[in-house]
Amino acid sequence: MTQIAFLGLGAIGTPMARHLAQPPFTLTVWNRTRARADEFARSTGARAAATPRDAATGAVFVVTCLPTSREVESLLDGADGLIAGMASGSMLIDCTSGDPATSRRIAARLGERGIGFVDAPVSGGTVGAERGTLTVMCGGDAESFERARPVIDAFGEKLVHCGPVGTGHALKSVNNALLAVHVWATGEGLAALAKAGVSPKIALDVINASSGRSNTSQNLFPERVLTRAFPRTFRLALLDKDVGIAAGVAREQHVASPLLQLTSELFRAAHTLLGEEADHVEAVRVIEAWSGVEIT
Ligand code: NDP
Repeated sequence: MTQIAFLGLGAIGTPMARHLAQPPFTLTVWNRTRARADEFARSTGARAAATPRDAATGAVFVVTCLPTSREVESLLDGADGLIAGMASGSMLIDCTSGDPATSRRIAARLGERGIGFVDAPVSGGTVGAERGTLTVMCGGDAESFERARPVIDAFGEKLVHCGPVGTGHALKSVNNALLAVHVWATGEGLAALAKAGVSPKIALDVINASSGRSNTSQNLFPERVLTRAFPRTFRLALLDKDVGIAAGVAREQHVASPLLQLTSELFRAAHTLLGEEADHVEAVRVIEAWSGVEIT
């Protein structure tokens, strides 16, 4: 049995961790709000730890799934921190949609202690996490990727080695920035069409049979916007963070084109206006408010 620690029982972390609460793994969980870890332990037989250090002690692999790399970094130090519990030869697998620069810094610090690091952000949403069919984008050396594979395999279906540390996070951020571009562009286009007298339903029927279609136009708008359902599956705050990371990667790499920066500014504005709990698709509400039209 391989001992695993999982930290961060949020919307996607919880279903991911469930796959690790069974043989050939033994699982210890830690969550900032202790009640969630206790509840998880009750329903799965995993052990709930009192501190990150307690969770990491004896673990061969520590898996984190937190909002940003900042929170991951904040758990490393101090008497109750991860580093105090992790042994040389163990490995941190970070499934946060984090940022490359912070991950490189974390990897270097852990490396000094003989602890491995792989960034392994996921896509596929909470449904993919429940089904164990996530796509996992991994950054790290090839040997670390192979070592981490059996753990990641428990919740992932498509495992991709992207390159050195941080490249998983870079790829994940660009993927999500494309989602943000699609949501905003589809919302803006449909608002213009609605004001020009074209029903959004008719517009989507045409777009989805034509070259402008995307997952956003085929699924998100018909199911969430036109119905006004706006279910809360992935927080706008997290997408804002992801687009900001992608814009940062583009700046760092001297890509002299403005779309990612502009999208980042639009999603920062939407996040500020709609708050922490809004779903990412609700960004469309901002376009509607600015345009004085509802996409229904
Ligand atoms: P949630 O907001 O649902 O959960 C966040 C988790 O992080 C909770 O366990 C929370 O603990 C913990 N946390 C927050 N702040 C701190 C802190 N300062 N110190 C310690 N723990 C903290 O997020 P998700 O589960 O949705 O997302 C997690 C990561 O996965 C993000 O990077 C996100 O971008 C990514 N992701 C999410 C997807 C989704 O569909 N939800 C899809 C793909 C990637 P507490 O219980 O105490 O609040």
